[in-house]
Amino acid sequence: MLGKITLEEHFALTETLGPGSDDLHRRLRDFGGSRISEMDEFGIQFSVLSLNAPAVQGILEINAAVEMARRANDFLADEISKRSDRFGGFAALPMQDPDLATEELTRCVKELGFVGANVNSFTQKDEPETHIFYDIPKYRSFWASVQELDVPFYLHPRNPVTERIPQFDGHPWLTYSAWAFAFDAALHALRLMCSGLFDDYPNLQLILGHLGERIPFDLWRVDHRIEEDPKNIPAQKSLREYMRTNVHVTTSGQFYDPPLHLTLNELGIDRVMFSVDYPFESMEKGCNWFDNAKLTKQEQIAIGRTNAIKLLKLNLD
Ligand code: ZN
Repeated sequence: MLGKITLEEHFALTETLGPGSDDLHRRLRDFGGSRISEMDEFGIQFSVLSLNAPAVQGILEINAAVEMARRANDFLADEISKRSDRFGGFAALPMQDPDLATEELTRCVKELGFVGANVNSFTQKDEPETHIFYDIPKYRSFWASVQELDVPFYLHPRNPVTERIPQFDGHPWLTYSAWAFAFDAALHALRLMCSGLFDDYPNLQLILGHLGERIPFDLWRVDHRIEEDPKNIPAQKSLREYMRTNVHVTTSGQFYDPPLHLTLNELGIDRVMFSVDYPFESMEKGCNWFDNAKLTKQEQIAIGRTNAIKLLKLNLD
């Protein structure tokens, strides 16, 4: 399919490069070279780019987090200006301080033309052991601003501080993207939904990668158990209702028909969008899978292109 749009695609600053091969690092720092030539080869017209993980969310000191977010966003805006027909941007945010995060998101949307935020799940602050999730009351004013700015918030995974989680001890192959990413991001998304966030801000739109971080698969069971024993949950509605009203998912790193069809059944055709997760995943594999997935032409166009245009209000030919 030509004209595809992708929205979980990453770049890095030199200091946010994590472990990985020289080739991965080269790709994270490349914009106009092989990134564009692969987009051309595999039919991707437009990519919304975001900083890699954990980057800003792993910084303990607030001023350093603000400085890195601003520098990453300015750097991205400069790269976008060279190819604004091919690239858009999601803002990196210093979530260590909700007011400063609001300020930076507002600057990115109003001055840099970014189409939303991409935040690497929980934020550390002051102490390395900290996990700050954004369902707590001090973040409500931040969420009010996201709704007011009318842009989506991409909740991207990061590795939890697995040294604090005994279930991962001695099993490094289950950390990072194999299992720990979804373990963290799903819990964070569930906490946001269960906190009543979307009752307070009903127009807020969240994006989850990796076909919803396994939430669609378990949606019936989670709702069923909460209904049987609600334990004074603040949320007014079922998780299924929030997933169908306030959450979108992308196919990033999940190039397989059965979970795609399950997700379409649970969320409906309007809430699923194609993405790759480049350069951590291959554009060739992601695009070849999607172009041949069992979908009607209409479904393919919605997932591959028009859902993203509507959500991000893209002005594309
Ligand atoms: Zn990613």
